Amino acid sequence: MRLMAVSKTHPAEAVAAGLAAGLRLFGENRVQEFQQKLPVLSQSGIGVAGIGEAAGTAVAVHLIGHLQSNKTGRAAEIFSSIDTVDSLKLAERLDEAAQRLGRRLPVLIEVKLSDEATKSGLEPESRELADLLERLPDLAHVKMRGLMTVAPFDDNPETARACFRRLRLLREELAARYARLDFGELSMGMSGDFEMAIEEGSTLVRIGTAIFGARPKPT
Ligand SMILES: *Cc1c(COP(=O)(O)O)cnc(C)c1O
Repeated sequence: MRLMAVSKTHPAEAVAAGLAAGLRLFGENRVQEFQQKLPVLSQSGIGVAGIGEAAGTAVAVHLIGHLQSNKTGRAAEIFSSIDTVDSLKLAERLDEAAQRLGRRLPVLIEVKLSDEATKSGLEPESRELADLLERLPDLAHVKMRGLMTVAPFDDNPETARACFRRLRLLREELAARYARLDFGELSMGMSGDFEMAIEEGSTLVRIGTAIFGARPKPT
């Protein structure tokens, strides 16, 4: 189980402080915001492709926010992994961008397991998800690594647990059906629900508030 420090909305200096404290994996949710932090972070060892080294250990930065297809080129250039692929079109665009850059870009598929309209991701039983999974083995420049989800906001913690369990079971089902794809990563769990996510088999928890403190409220 790995820890991702979600540094969105916090300044580059907070990421640098996290690196100094030993954090090695970061999550950002907007292409432009991370782009703006890069000049500062390059002094701390994070370079192009969102990868680098600090104190002899590898550092990586993943995109964990929704990606618009007109920003795939830039995203493929500055992030080490895109954890929110939610359409075949997006995967194909990332494949083209990664090919131009001469790299193989790791991706996760974002799955939507709640009814909240604000949540993005592909629904488990959808034709769109099946289309994407069928096509992914042919996209030579993206490297499928697994699934991610965001649990619904709910006062009842068991709602999140049920969501994490569903993602774990879905992973087992899809891994059996699409044997050519790697479903090793299960990115789930945030500050409010990571204990349950770990109990349900998370391989990657994404923690913002519990590391960096409260984010400024959007205005
Ligand atoms: C903001 C964010 C997180 C971190 O949330 P916290 O509750 O602050 O830990 C994790 N995952 C995604 C996709 C996010 O957008």
